[in-house]
Order: sequence, then structure tokens, then C-alpha cells
Amino acid sequence: MKVISLVIPLYNESQAFPLLRQRLAEFSGRLEGQYRIEIILVDDGSRDGTWDQIMEFARADPRVKGVGLSRNFGHQNALFCGYEFAAGDAVVSLDGDLQDPPEIALEMLARFERGADVVFGVRRQRAGESVMKRLTAHAFYRILGWLGDTRAPLDSGDFRLLSRRALDALLRMREKHKYLRGLVGWIGYRTDQVEYDRPARAAGETKFSWLKMIRFATDGIVNFSRFPLRLSFLLCLAAMVPFLGYLIYAFVAAVYLHQPLVRGWSSLLLCVVIFGSLNLIALGIMGEYLGRVFENVKQRPDYLVMNVTSPDVMPPARQRP
Ligand code: UDP
Ligand code: MG
Repeated sequence: MKVISLVIPLYNESQAFPLLRQRLAEFSGRLEGQYRIEIILVDDGSRDGTWDQIMEFARADPRVKGVGLSRNFGHQNALFCGYEFAAGDAVVSLDGDLQDPPEIALEMLARFERGADVVFGVRRQRAGESVMKRLTAHAFYRILGWLGDTRAPLDSGDFRLLSRRALDALLRMREKHKYLRGLVGWIGYRTDQVEYDRPARAAGETKFSWLKMIRFATDGIVNFSRFPLRLSFLLCLAAMVPFLGYLIYAFVAAVYLHQPLVRGWSSLLLCVVIFGSLNLIALGIMGEYLGRVFENVKQRPDYLVMNVTSPDVMPPARQRP
């Protein structure tokens, strides 16, 4: 019987947990006899009792495997941890707030049975999210699609199914600050997609502050596009053209027409300010890329595990030496 792993990262989700637990139990019940299910719950350093709830769920249901991280490592790292612990022939990742309805995973499984390696969940509509979030998300995916080499469908999040070989490919990517949606698009293999309307959060609040969201968007752009680097070059080039013209004019005026431009104070200031700012911006953009090189050279682990719900909860590679 094929094994299906559900991977769910959780950060302070104690309010949504009872609902999640109920829906997961229902969902696994529906697949009983057809597949063997494992539910991997990754606690990303919660401080609101989420871990105790995971322990209790794991005690009551042998299909549940809980992994507790040593602190909050962020959604992408927690998800990656879940992926590393998953032993399934297919792995479905979803959010713990029920914004990715488990029932849609049934359709993903049907596509998997028809031979798909990667099934993206594509959001058609988003309920219960602020206009600002919807607008920025909409714009961001389009800008990234235009700039970057991601190949993931527009508006696809981290709700997806991966076959074993697609997951193994993903696990080989050791880069830091992972932008998983982009990496999954990079894999290739046979891809498919399921569209769904994203419901509002079941309970609790979003765990993504604006700052986290901006960082995440920067990861997406910087990891998948060199356009910002090229842009700083193009901008400097574009700014140089008028000032070069001005230089030639000043030269001709002074040498041939004997009219030295003593009135050039404002233009001089303009020139200094524009080139000074462009220099700093270009340095900042370079720093963003250089910082990532630094992070990658250090090769720190993506996360540290502090607790597991039972001693046999470990990544499958170590189970099969
Ligand atoms: N999450 C996490 N670590 C974090 C932030 C979020 O594991 O640092 C989890 C969170 O518990 C949820 C999922 O990632 O299961 C998506 O987060 P959230 O629903 O807050 O994001 P949104 O849907 O608002 O973009
Ligand atoms: Mg959510």
C-alpha cells in the first residue's frame, strides 16, 4: 500500500489546532484502506502550548509524528524539516490554519495516481485576507514571474503534492533562505495543478508580519533573479548619459567659447547627490546578494530538532542505512 505523508508546519496554532485535528482525522479516515497515512506536524518553536497538543494527538493516533524545533526557524525551514522527515510515496504540504483544505488534497492525489510528480495548489480567490495583502501578493507573483526564473504557476503557495522522486530532488537543494515555491518549479518532472478558493483562517491570526512578508518576497526575488544586479548597472548607465552631455557642454564652453561656467553650483550638487545615491543603492543590492553568499558558505543547519513525539520519528534516510 502506498504511503502518503501530510506535512504541516505549526507556529503558535493552539487556537486552530482542535479544528485541524478533527479535519485531519476525517481526511485520513476517508483514505483508510486505500493508502497508509502519516501526519507530520512540525512545531516551529511555538510558545502557546501547540507542542502539548501535538503530543496528545500523537498519543491518540499512531499515524501522527510530531517534531519540535529548538526555536522559531520560519515557515520555509519548518516545512523543509517536515519534508526531510516524510517517508511517503507522495507528500502533501499544507498550512495548519486550514487555509489549504485537506479535501483539495484528494484531487491532488487523483492527479498523482495519473502520473503527476508535482501538483501545485493554485489560489483562485482568497477570503478573509486584507485588500492590501491580496494586492501585494497578486503584484508580487507577477513581478517575480516576470523577473525570475521560477517556472511555478502564478499564485501557487506551499500547498502542493510531491512524488517521492520530486521530493528527493527538492531535498538535494541545500541553499539557505529557501524559497520553496520557486525551487519546486525548478525541479520539472511531470507537473499538474489544482485550483481552489482559499478560505479564511480557521482560527487565530496570521503568523506573517509585514516584515516577514517583505523578507520572504526578497528571498523569492534575490534567489531567482539577477535582474536587481543588472538594474543597478542600467540605472547608473542611464544617469551617466545626461551628465556626460553636460560635461561635454562645460568643456566646450570653457575651452572653445571661453565662458567658464561659474554658475554651475546646483548642477554640481545634483550630480554629486544622484551619483552618491545610485552608488549606495547599487552597493545595497550587491550586499543583498553577497549576504546570501555568506549565509550559504557558513552551511549552518536549516533547523535544530528539540523534541520528537516518539523515538522512531526520524528522517527516513537514517532508518534505511
Ligand atoms: N508558520 C510557521 N512558522 C512561522 C510562521 C508560520 O511554521 O514562522 C506556519 C503557520 O503556523 C501556518 C503556516 O506556516 O501553519 C502558514 O502561516 P500563516 O497562516 O500565518 O500565513 P498566511 O496564511 O497568513 O500567509
Ligand atoms: Mg494562513
